[in-house]
Amino acid sequence: MTTPQPLPNVAALPPYVPGARGLVNGVTPIKSSSNENPLPPLPSVLEALATAGASIHRYPDMYATDLVERLAERHGVTPAEVVVGGGSVSALAHVLQAYAGPGNEVVFAWRSFEAYPILTLLTGASPVTVPLDADARHDLPAMAAAITERTKVVMVCSPNNPTGPSVHTDEFVAFMGAVPEHVVVVLDEAYLEYVTDPETVHGQEMIGRWPNLVVLRTFSKAYGLAGLRVGYAIAPAAIITAVRSCVTPFSVSGVAQFAAIASLDALPELLERVDGIVAERARVVAALAADGWNLPDSQGNFVWIAAGDKTAELVAHFGAQPRPILVRPFTNEGVRLTIGTPAENDAALSALAGLTWRA
Ligand SMILES: *Cc1c(COP(=O)(O)O)cnc(C)c1O
Repeated sequence: MTTPQPLPNVAALPPYVPGARGLVNGVTPIKSSSNENPLPPLPSVLEALATAGASIHRYPDMYATDLVERLAERHGVTPAEVVVGGGSVSALAHVLQAYAGPGNEVVFAWRSFEAYPILTLLTGASPVTVPLDADARHDLPAMAAAITERTKVVMVCSPNNPTGPSVHTDEFVAFMGAVPEHVVVVLDEAYLEYVTDPETVHGQEMIGRWPNLVVLRTFSKAYGLAGLRVGYAIAPAAIITAVRSCVTPFSVSGVAQFAAIASLDALPELLERVDGIVAERARVVAALAADGWNLPDSQGNFVWIAAGDKTAELVAHFGAQPRPILVRPFTNEGVRLTIGTPAENDAALSALAGLTWRA
Protein backbone atom coordinates (compact mmCIF):
# COMPACT_ATOMS: atom_id res chain seq x y z
CA MET A 1 0.00 0.00 0.00
CA THR A 2 1.49 3.29 -1.10
CA THR A 3 -1.18 5.80 -0.12
CA PRO A 4 -2.58 6.55 3.33
CA GLN A 5 -5.33 4.11 4.27
CA PRO A 6 -8.09 5.25 6.63
CA LEU A 7 -9.11 2.87 9.40
CA PRO A 8 -11.41 0.13 8.07
CA ASN A 9 -14.40 1.40 10.07
CA VAL A 10 -13.93 4.84 8.50
CA ALA A 11 -13.35 3.51 4.97
CA ALA A 12 -16.53 1.42 5.27
CA LEU A 13 -18.75 4.48 5.81
CA PRO A 14 -20.77 5.60 2.80
CA PRO A 15 -19.32 8.80 1.29
CA TYR A 16 -21.14 12.01 2.19
CA VAL A 17 -23.79 12.99 -0.36
CA PRO A 18 -24.63 16.70 -0.10
CA GLY A 19 -28.35 17.59 -0.08
CA ALA A 20 -29.87 19.79 -2.79
CA ARG A 21 -28.89 23.45 -2.44
CA GLY A 22 -29.90 26.68 -4.10
CA LEU A 23 -32.36 26.83 -6.98
CA VAL A 24 -34.20 23.84 -8.47
CA ASN A 25 -35.15 24.41 -12.13
CA GLY A 26 -34.51 28.11 -11.56
CA VAL A 27 -36.96 28.31 -8.63
CA THR A 28 -36.26 28.60 -4.88
CA PRO A 29 -37.57 25.28 -3.55
CA ILE A 30 -39.56 24.69 -0.39
CA LYS A 31 -37.05 23.10 1.96
CA SER A 32 -38.95 20.43 3.83
CA SER A 33 -36.02 18.04 4.05
CA SER A 34 -34.15 18.90 7.27
CA ASN A 35 -36.75 19.41 10.03
CA GLU A 36 -35.70 23.03 10.38
CA ASN A 37 -37.80 25.81 11.85
CA PRO A 38 -39.37 27.59 8.85
CA LEU A 39 -39.52 30.97 10.62
CA PRO A 40 -36.66 33.47 10.61
CA PRO A 41 -34.76 34.16 13.87
CA LEU A 42 -36.41 36.41 16.48
CA PRO A 43 -35.23 40.05 16.44
CA SER A 44 -33.95 39.66 20.02
CA VAL A 45 -31.80 36.70 18.96
CA LEU A 46 -30.42 38.60 15.96
CA GLU A 47 -29.54 41.46 18.30
CA ALA A 48 -27.59 39.07 20.54
CA LEU A 49 -25.75 37.84 17.45
CA ALA A 50 -24.74 41.37 16.53
CA THR A 51 -23.43 42.00 20.05
CA ALA A 52 -21.55 38.70 20.08
CA GLY A 53 -20.13 39.49 16.64
CA ALA A 54 -18.09 42.33 18.15
CA SER A 55 -15.91 39.82 19.99
CA ILE A 56 -15.30 37.12 17.37
CA HIS A 57 -11.58 37.95 17.33
CA ARG A 58 -11.46 36.27 20.79
CA TYR A 59 -11.81 32.56 21.55
CA PRO A 60 -15.16 31.73 23.11
CA ASP A 61 -15.63 30.60 26.71
CA MET A 62 -14.49 26.99 26.32
CA TYR A 63 -16.94 25.68 28.90
CA ALA A 64 -19.84 27.92 27.85
CA THR A 65 -20.09 28.78 31.55
CA ASP A 66 -23.00 31.23 31.35
CA LEU A 67 -25.05 29.00 29.06
CA VAL A 68 -24.35 25.90 31.15
CA GLU A 69 -25.46 27.79 34.27
CA ARG A 70 -28.68 28.87 32.60
CA LEU A 71 -29.37 25.34 31.43
CA ALA A 72 -28.60 23.85 34.86
CA GLU A 73 -31.02 26.30 36.44
CA ARG A 74 -33.65 25.51 33.83
CA HIS A 75 -33.43 21.78 34.42
CA GLY A 76 -32.91 21.83 38.19
CA VAL A 77 -29.43 20.27 38.10
CA THR A 78 -25.92 21.52 38.89
CA PRO A 79 -23.61 22.90 36.17
CA ALA A 80 -21.51 19.75 36.63
CA GLU A 81 -24.42 17.80 35.18
CA VAL A 82 -24.62 19.71 31.87
CA VAL A 83 -22.32 19.75 28.84
CA VAL A 84 -22.82 21.87 25.73
CA GLY A 85 -21.79 20.67 22.28
CA GLY A 86 -21.68 21.89 18.68
CA GLY A 87 -25.21 20.62 18.15
CA SER A 88 -26.58 17.73 20.18
CA VAL A 89 -25.11 15.45 17.51
CA SER A 90 -21.65 16.48 18.73
CA ALA A 91 -22.68 15.88 22.34
CA LEU A 92 -23.86 12.41 21.30
CA ALA A 93 -20.61 11.74 19.43
CA HIS A 94 -18.71 12.59 22.60
CA VAL A 95 -20.87 10.29 24.74
CA LEU A 96 -20.12 7.47 22.29
CA GLN A 97 -16.42 8.37 22.19
CA ALA A 98 -16.28 8.27 25.98
CA TYR A 99 -18.04 4.91 26.40
CA ALA A 100 -17.83 2.79 23.24
CA GLY A 101 -14.97 1.47 21.13
CA PRO A 102 -13.78 -1.55 19.15
CA GLY A 103 -15.40 -4.77 20.37
CA ASN A 104 -18.35 -2.94 21.95
CA GLU A 105 -21.94 -2.74 20.81
CA VAL A 106 -24.31 0.21 20.61
CA VAL A 107 -28.04 -0.56 20.47
CA PHE A 108 -30.64 1.64 18.80
CA ALA A 109 -33.97 1.33 17.00
CA TRP A 110 -34.19 1.24 13.23
CA ARG A 111 -35.26 3.11 11.35
CA SER A 112 -34.19 6.03 13.50
CA PHE A 113 -31.81 8.99 13.25
CA GLU A 114 -29.29 8.67 10.40
CA ALA A 115 -26.42 9.86 12.58
CA TYR A 116 -26.66 6.92 15.03
CA PRO A 117 -24.98 4.23 12.86
CA ILE A 118 -22.36 6.66 11.56
CA LEU A 119 -21.34 7.96 14.99
CA THR A 120 -21.28 4.40 16.32
CA LEU A 121 -19.06 3.10 13.50
CA LEU A 122 -16.67 6.04 13.96
CA THR A 123 -15.91 4.84 17.50
CA GLY A 124 -15.07 1.38 16.17
CA ALA A 125 -18.05 -0.14 18.00
CA SER A 126 -20.71 -2.24 16.23
CA PRO A 127 -24.25 -0.96 15.75
CA VAL A 128 -27.02 -3.35 16.87
CA THR A 129 -30.33 -2.29 15.39
CA VAL A 130 -33.75 -3.30 16.70
CA PRO A 131 -36.67 -2.93 14.27
CA LEU A 132 -39.44 -0.46 15.07
CA ASP A 133 -42.79 -2.14 15.73
CA ALA A 134 -45.73 -2.20 13.28
CA ASP A 135 -46.75 1.32 14.38
CA ALA A 136 -43.23 2.67 13.68
CA ARG A 137 -42.60 2.96 17.46
CA HIS A 138 -39.59 1.88 19.52
CA ASP A 139 -39.83 -1.75 20.71
CA LEU A 140 -38.18 -1.15 24.08
CA PRO A 141 -38.55 -4.73 25.43
CA ALA A 142 -36.76 -5.97 22.29
CA MET A 143 -34.10 -3.29 22.73
CA ALA A 144 -33.51 -4.35 26.34
CA ALA A 145 -33.29 -7.97 25.16
CA ALA A 146 -30.66 -6.96 22.57
CA ILE A 147 -28.24 -5.85 25.31
CA THR A 148 -25.25 -8.18 25.74
CA GLU A 149 -22.10 -8.02 27.85
CA ARG A 150 -20.55 -6.06 24.96
CA THR A 151 -23.22 -3.33 24.99
CA LYS A 152 -21.99 0.06 26.20
CA VAL A 153 -24.63 2.53 25.00
CA VAL A 154 -28.31 2.39 24.00
CA MET A 155 -29.94 5.26 22.12
CA VAL A 156 -33.65 6.03 22.46
CA CYS A 157 -35.07 8.68 20.11
CA SER A 158 -38.33 10.25 21.35
CA PRO A 159 -40.09 11.43 19.24
CA ASN A 160 -38.45 9.16 16.68
CA ASN A 161 -36.86 10.78 13.65
CA PRO A 162 -38.03 10.04 10.92
CA THR A 163 -41.23 8.14 11.82
CA GLY A 164 -42.71 10.45 14.50
CA PRO A 165 -44.07 8.47 17.48
CA SER A 166 -42.78 9.20 21.00
CA VAL A 167 -41.76 6.76 23.72
CA HIS A 168 -44.21 6.56 26.63
CA THR A 169 -43.26 7.11 30.28
CA ASP A 170 -44.35 3.66 31.50
CA GLU A 171 -42.41 1.98 28.67
CA PHE A 172 -39.31 4.03 29.40
CA VAL A 173 -39.36 3.42 33.16
CA ALA A 174 -39.77 -0.33 32.61
CA PHE A 175 -36.92 -0.20 30.07
CA MET A 176 -34.57 1.60 32.46
CA GLY A 177 -35.39 -1.06 35.05
CA ALA A 178 -34.29 -3.75 32.60
CA VAL A 179 -31.02 -2.09 31.45
CA PRO A 180 -27.91 -2.87 33.54
CA GLU A 181 -26.66 0.29 35.27
CA HIS A 182 -23.24 0.10 33.58
CA VAL A 183 -24.87 0.62 30.15
CA VAL A 184 -25.37 4.28 29.19
CA VAL A 185 -28.89 5.10 27.96
CA VAL A 186 -29.18 8.22 25.79
CA LEU A 187 -32.67 9.72 25.53
CA ASP A 188 -32.55 11.97 22.45
CA GLU A 189 -35.27 14.59 22.77
CA ALA A 190 -34.48 16.75 19.74
CA TYR A 191 -38.21 17.23 19.05
CA LEU A 192 -39.60 17.25 22.59
CA GLU A 193 -41.08 20.75 22.27
CA TYR A 194 -43.50 19.56 19.57
CA VAL A 195 -44.94 16.68 21.59
CA THR A 196 -48.67 16.64 22.37
CA ASP A 197 -49.10 12.95 23.32
CA PRO A 198 -49.57 13.19 27.14
CA GLU A 199 -48.08 9.71 27.68
CA THR A 200 -44.72 10.84 26.30
CA VAL A 201 -41.69 10.42 28.55
CA HIS A 202 -40.02 13.71 29.56
CA GLY A 203 -36.30 13.47 30.24
CA GLN A 204 -36.71 16.31 32.72
CA GLU A 205 -38.71 14.01 34.99
CA MET A 206 -36.27 11.12 34.53
CA ILE A 207 -32.92 12.80 35.22
CA GLY A 208 -31.40 11.89 38.55
CA ARG A 209 -33.38 8.64 38.80
CA TRP A 210 -30.67 6.45 37.24
CA PRO A 211 -26.87 6.80 37.24
CA ASN A 212 -26.67 5.82 33.55
CA LEU A 213 -29.20 8.16 31.90
CA VAL A 214 -28.14 10.91 29.47
CA VAL A 215 -30.77 13.32 28.13
CA LEU A 216 -29.98 15.18 24.89
CA ARG A 217 -31.61 18.47 23.91
CA THR A 218 -30.92 20.86 21.04
CA PHE A 219 -31.40 24.48 20.03
CA SER A 220 -31.53 23.44 16.36
CA LYS A 221 -35.18 22.54 15.94
CA ALA A 222 -37.86 24.30 17.99
CA TYR A 223 -35.55 27.20 18.88
CA GLY A 224 -34.51 27.79 15.29
CA LEU A 225 -30.71 27.84 15.72
CA ALA A 226 -29.80 24.94 13.39
CA GLY A 227 -27.20 27.09 11.62
CA LEU A 228 -25.36 27.99 14.82
CA ARG A 229 -24.71 24.46 16.14
CA VAL A 230 -25.56 24.24 19.81
CA GLY A 231 -27.09 21.42 21.82
CA TYR A 232 -26.50 19.85 25.21
CA ALA A 233 -26.55 16.76 27.37
CA ILE A 234 -27.79 16.42 30.95
CA ALA A 235 -26.44 13.46 32.94
CA PRO A 236 -24.90 12.57 36.29
CA ALA A 237 -21.65 14.49 36.88
CA ALA A 238 -19.48 11.37 36.41
CA ILE A 239 -20.77 10.94 32.86
CA ILE A 240 -20.56 14.65 32.06
CA THR A 241 -16.92 14.71 33.23
CA ALA A 242 -16.08 11.89 30.81
CA VAL A 243 -17.98 13.51 27.95
CA ARG A 244 -16.27 16.89 28.56
CA SER A 245 -12.91 15.17 28.17
CA CYS A 246 -13.90 14.27 24.60
CA VAL A 247 -15.17 17.70 23.51
CA THR A 248 -13.14 19.47 20.84
CA PRO A 249 -11.89 22.65 22.53
CA PHE A 250 -13.81 25.83 21.61
CA SER A 251 -16.25 23.92 19.38
CA VAL A 252 -19.28 25.96 20.47
CA SER A 253 -18.75 29.51 19.22
CA GLY A 254 -19.35 32.54 21.40
CA VAL A 255 -22.00 33.65 18.91
CA ALA A 256 -23.84 30.35 19.41
CA GLN A 257 -23.58 30.66 23.19
CA PHE A 258 -25.02 34.20 23.14
CA ALA A 259 -27.81 33.21 20.76
CA ALA A 260 -28.74 30.20 22.90
CA ILE A 261 -28.97 32.41 26.00
CA ALA A 262 -31.05 34.96 24.08
CA SER A 263 -33.32 32.09 22.99
CA LEU A 264 -33.79 31.00 26.59
CA ASP A 265 -34.68 34.62 27.39
CA ALA A 266 -37.25 34.52 24.58
CA LEU A 267 -38.63 31.09 25.45
CA PRO A 268 -42.34 32.07 25.70
CA GLU A 269 -42.17 33.70 22.26
CA LEU A 270 -40.38 30.67 20.77
CA LEU A 271 -42.86 28.25 22.32
CA GLU A 272 -45.71 30.25 20.76
CA ARG A 273 -44.10 29.58 17.40
CA VAL A 274 -43.89 25.91 18.30
CA ASP A 275 -47.66 26.00 18.98
CA GLY A 276 -48.11 27.30 15.44
CA ILE A 277 -46.10 24.39 13.99
CA VAL A 278 -48.01 21.90 16.14
CA ALA A 279 -51.32 23.34 14.87
CA GLU A 280 -50.08 23.05 11.29
CA ARG A 281 -48.98 19.46 11.94
CA ALA A 282 -52.50 18.64 13.13
CA ARG A 283 -53.94 20.25 10.00
CA VAL A 284 -51.58 18.35 7.68
CA VAL A 285 -52.15 15.04 9.46
CA ALA A 286 -55.95 15.49 9.37
CA ALA A 287 -55.90 16.39 5.67
CA LEU A 288 -53.72 13.40 4.79
CA ALA A 289 -55.81 11.02 6.89
CA ALA A 290 -58.99 12.31 5.19
CA ASP A 291 -57.29 11.69 1.87
CA GLY A 292 -56.66 8.04 2.76
CA TRP A 293 -53.04 8.14 3.92
CA ASN A 294 -52.11 5.88 6.79
CA LEU A 295 -49.50 7.80 8.84
CA PRO A 296 -47.78 6.82 12.08
CA ASP A 297 -48.46 9.12 15.05
CA SER A 298 -46.51 12.31 14.41
CA GLN A 299 -45.07 13.99 17.53
CA GLY A 300 -42.25 15.96 15.87
CA ASN A 301 -42.26 18.79 13.31
CA PHE A 302 -42.50 16.30 10.45
CA VAL A 303 -44.66 13.52 9.05
CA TRP A 304 -43.56 10.13 7.76
CA ILE A 305 -45.04 8.89 4.52
CA ALA A 306 -44.29 5.17 4.14
CA ALA A 307 -44.24 5.07 0.36
CA GLY A 308 -42.28 1.79 0.07
CA ASP A 309 -41.20 1.10 -3.50
CA LYS A 310 -42.98 4.29 -4.63
CA THR A 311 -40.52 6.44 -2.65
CA ALA A 312 -38.40 7.57 -5.63
CA GLU A 313 -41.56 8.39 -7.59
CA LEU A 314 -42.92 10.42 -4.66
CA VAL A 315 -39.67 12.37 -4.28
CA ALA A 316 -39.69 13.18 -8.01
CA HIS A 317 -43.35 14.23 -7.77
CA PHE A 318 -42.55 16.66 -4.93
CA GLY A 319 -39.61 17.98 -6.94
CA ALA A 320 -41.80 18.53 -10.01
CA GLN A 321 -44.25 20.87 -8.27
CA PRO A 322 -44.62 24.47 -9.56
CA ARG A 323 -42.47 25.39 -6.57
CA PRO A 324 -40.32 22.29 -6.07
CA ILE A 325 -40.57 20.69 -2.61
CA LEU A 326 -37.44 19.08 -1.18
CA VAL A 327 -38.16 16.17 1.15
CA ARG A 328 -35.96 13.62 2.90
CA PRO A 329 -36.09 10.28 1.06
CA PHE A 330 -35.29 6.87 2.55
CA THR A 331 -34.79 4.48 -0.35
CA ASN A 332 -37.74 2.09 -0.80
CA GLU A 333 -39.04 2.98 2.68
CA GLY A 334 -40.60 6.41 2.58
CA VAL A 335 -40.33 10.14 2.76
CA ARG A 336 -40.04 12.51 5.69
CA LEU A 337 -41.79 15.83 5.12
CA THR A 338 -41.01 18.70 7.49
CA ILE A 339 -43.93 20.87 8.63
CA GLY A 340 -43.33 24.36 7.26
CA THR A 341 -45.32 27.57 7.00
CA PRO A 342 -49.05 27.25 6.19
CA ALA A 343 -48.35 28.11 2.53
CA GLU A 344 -45.58 25.52 2.32
CA ASN A 345 -47.82 22.90 3.89
CA ASP A 346 -50.62 23.75 1.46
CA ALA A 347 -48.18 23.17 -1.40
CA ALA A 348 -47.22 19.77 0.02
CA LEU A 349 -50.87 18.81 0.55
CA SER A 350 -51.83 19.74 -2.97
CA ALA A 351 -48.86 17.74 -4.31
CA LEU A 352 -50.02 14.69 -2.34
CA ALA A 353 -53.67 15.19 -3.35
CA GLY A 354 -52.55 15.00 -6.98
CA LEU A 355 -51.17 11.48 -6.61
CA THR A 356 -53.02 8.53 -8.04
CA TRP A 357 -51.89 6.05 -5.35
CA ARG A 358 -51.87 6.02 -1.55
CA ALA A 359 -49.44 4.55 0.97
C1 LIG B 1 -31.95 17.15 14.44
C2 LIG B 1 -31.66 16.08 15.41
C3 LIG B 1 -30.73 16.26 16.43
C4 LIG B 1 -30.06 17.57 16.67
O1 LIG B 1 -29.05 17.86 15.87
P1 LIG B 1 -28.11 19.11 16.21
O2 LIG B 1 -26.75 18.54 16.11
O3 LIG B 1 -28.42 19.57 17.60
O4 LIG B 1 -28.43 20.12 15.17
C5 LIG B 1 -30.51 15.24 17.33
N1 LIG B 1 -31.19 14.11 17.26
C6 LIG B 1 -32.12 13.91 16.31
C7 LIG B 1 -32.89 12.64 16.31
C8 LIG B 1 -32.38 14.88 15.35
O5 LIG B 1 -33.28 14.66 14.41
